[in-house]
Amino acid sequence: MIVGVPKESFPGERRVALVPSVIANLAKAGLEVAIESGAGVEAGYPDAAYAEKGGKVLPNRAAVFSTADIVVQVLCYGSNDKTGKADVALMRRDQALIGFLRPMGSREIVQELAGTGVSAFAVELMPRTTRAQSMDALSSMATASGYKAVLIASDMLPRFFPMLTTAAGTITPARVLVIGAGVAGLQAIATARRLGAVVSAYDLRPAVKEQVQSLGGRFVELPIEAKDAQDAGGYARAQDEAFYARQRELLGRVVAESDVVITTAVVPGQKAPVLVTAEMVRGMAPGSVIVDLAAERGGNCELTKSEETIVTNGVNIIGRINLASTVPYHASQLYARNLTNFLLHLTKKGQLEINLQDDIIRETLLTRGGQVASARVREFFKIPGQ
Ligand code: NAD
Repeated sequence: MIVGVPKESFPGERRVALVPSVIANLAKAGLEVAIESGAGVEAGYPDAAYAEKGGKVLPNRAAVFSTADIVVQVLCYGSNDKTGKADVALMRRDQALIGFLRPMGSREIVQELAGTGVSAFAVELMPRTTRAQSMDALSSMATASGYKAVLIASDMLPRFFPMLTTAAGTITPARVLVIGAGVAGLQAIATARRLGAVVSAYDLRPAVKEQVQSLGGRFVELPIEAKDAQDAGGYARAQDEAFYARQRELLGRVVAESDVVITTAVVPGQKAPVLVTAEMVRGMAPGSVIVDLAAERGGNCELTKSEETIVTNGVNIIGRINLASTVPYHASQLYARNLTNFLLHLTKKGQLEINLQDDIIRETLLTRGGQVASARVREFFKIPGQ
């Protein structure tokens, strides 16, 4: 079978779905790789590096789609809402597609995708089980964005991060607050600590306290308790407005004392909760920085504008999206390993085997045979079952 890798077409996207080092592993399982010329260049992987490992370089996107049995992408149509639609005409009924598809983004797009007949697998739907961990692309990308969020904040902050003892006196360390200590948040804590900041973190799931502390962060305890904070999949559960209001009230002081606030709190399929209000921003010192990793989902800060940096009362609020794409070499490497593990799981003796008894395959399968196959997505969009 041929695994095809088109060049990412989303504007500014620099990642690539497969890197040369995974080609040998795929070949052992009977999978050949065909890549669009130039697809890896921006991530630091030239055509020659793929060819050297046995990959076939094809001249254009159409050639990749027409050759491939399985097309792998980072941002497929769905998550690529700018240029992704052009791929619909290239998809075939007997083809599989794997990548970020934003399965709970738009009902129309999911149905349009289903209409092509393609068997599409959305990596966002990967179950959070130990068995699926090595295929979990969301965690890989969250690691990259948590890391980069800290570098962006440190670049913008008019202060040093570490404590410095110099002949001209002592510099106090920056105070960083991370709200939401999931995968991205924990990586942000670790990165800020490596740069010498004093780090605090808050999460509504009390279970993360130890993880925060093990990274050298202080866990902020608020005298409120979330109801059923965590679902069976390890995700935070949405809370009622009274909880969020009380949370904002209590977080106000901690936010005001921070030079940098990094927010990562998301609840799957829902608008991100507002945790930092305009009033809380007014309480921050000029020059402070907020990096809102939930910007794409409406933001955890009331003032965040997706894809923009705004300055209000001297406070910088950064709503950049797709930060993983700014570390394209390693983000692609992690993603390629996730995809390779998934491809090895999906194929037997070089053939695609869609075994619906397997939870990893069943949960990630978004569309198949002209229908929306995912029960979770059908339920979310109220699409009647077949
Ligand atoms: P996420 O991206 O869904 O959310 C980020 C964090 O924000 C979470 O920790 C969440 O609890 C927090 N949050 C949500 N609403 C909040 C609020 N109102 N106030 C404060 N915090 C809020 O989460 P994630 O990074 O994907 O990880 C969540 C958990 O799932 C972690 O424990 C992680 O280790 C686990 N996980 C397990 C697997 C696996 O076993 N395969 C894979 C991925 C993640």
